[in-house]
Amino acid sequence: MNNSFDSETDLQFAFGGQAQQVLERHFLDDAASAKLSAKFRLYYLLRPIIPIWLRQKLQKSRGSSMTDVPSDWYVPNAFIDDFVEALRSDCQQNSDATILHPWPKPHQMCVSLTHDVETREGVLLVDRLAKLEESYGFRSCWNFIPYKYKIESELIEDLKARGHEVGVHGYNHDGRLFSSRRVFEKRRTPIMDAIKKFDAVGFRAPMVHRNLEWILTLKSDYDASCFDVDPYQAMSGGVGSIWPFMKQNMVELPYTLPQDHTLFIALAQNDISAWTQKLKFLRRWCGMGMLVTHPDYLDTEERFDLYRQFLEHLQEQSDVWFALPKEISAWWRRRNDSTIGNNLDVSGPVGDQGQLLKLNELLHGPCQHDTVTVAGGATR
Ligand SMILES: [Zn+2]
Repeated sequence: MNNSFDSETDLQFAFGGQAQQVLERHFLDDAASAKLSAKFRLYYLLRPIIPIWLRQKLQKSRGSSMTDVPSDWYVPNAFIDDFVEALRSDCQQNSDATILHPWPKPHQMCVSLTHDVETREGVLLVDRLAKLEESYGFRSCWNFIPYKYKIESELIEDLKARGHEVGVHGYNHDGRLFSSRRVFEKRRTPIMDAIKKFDAVGFRAPMVHRNLEWILTLKSDYDASCFDVDPYQAMSGGVGSIWPFMKQNMVELPYTLPQDHTLFIALAQNDISAWTQKLKFLRRWCGMGMLVTHPDYLDTEERFDLYRQFLEHLQEQSDVWFALPKEISAWWRRRNDSTIGNNLDVSGPVGDQGQLLKLNELLHGPCQHDTVTVAGGATR
């Protein structure tokens, strides 16, 4: 068997053995600590009357006041240290330990581009950003807030016709979706209606507030409200995992590349080194590069060009599966239902696309070297 199912937590990770235990522990730590401080609860209550310029000023001053954050904060070092130790001990027990590779043949890693559209101004910038991506051969997922601003149904249909995906980004983005079970329950059916109306399969919670137990009840195919590490979020922390995982019947797709808002507004950076460095790290571990950007924040020529630079950088990568979140989710289900036999034969729905990954090779870095492949998938 490739994965073992933990009946107590309803979680299934990319790895078994002790590596799985590390993944599980980091996930559970994040789930337990993903709560808002009193200061943030008050902030969300007052947020509707705080003008956007003041909000951005507050976010900037919070960013610069967090002086104890290391410069490579976007790398989940604490998680990877634990993971390596577990991997080493799994390899000691069985030097031939093998899992189904996280990604379909012939790819070594995966990259997915997503956007959360925060405001009506953002809606008006969608087409320009989508055209930029298309000029580089990419498609992406656009998450809209269903009950906050006007969304033309023509825009949704047009994006889909051009090969993009559309998802649902919360209810009205007021920061209060998880403030009580009562609030969540009141909004649950309208959110499910929006998922149906957009003909979407994915959900991402606003401000990546997260409670997967509740999100499960939305019955979306996948959720994308977790992240591997991000000290700059109101609910900071992170699940550690740089691969998808399953919570009951839902696929979780954590974001792993820092958000544009954090880099370019809160931290006032003017280059893309955090993205390219993290991409290297993700390649090393056969991980998933999941990026969240916002048309709302890529609204200056400088920031628009930074995103363009990253697309150019991505285009130069040779062994990446560029995929929409819905494609990754569908793949992950197939992978999850497939098994490795005693003779290292792969059986199950992954079919010919399944490939093996020896843990010993992962430990020593199989994904670092470029294999010559043509990037495929529906998005390239
Ligand atoms: Zn948002």
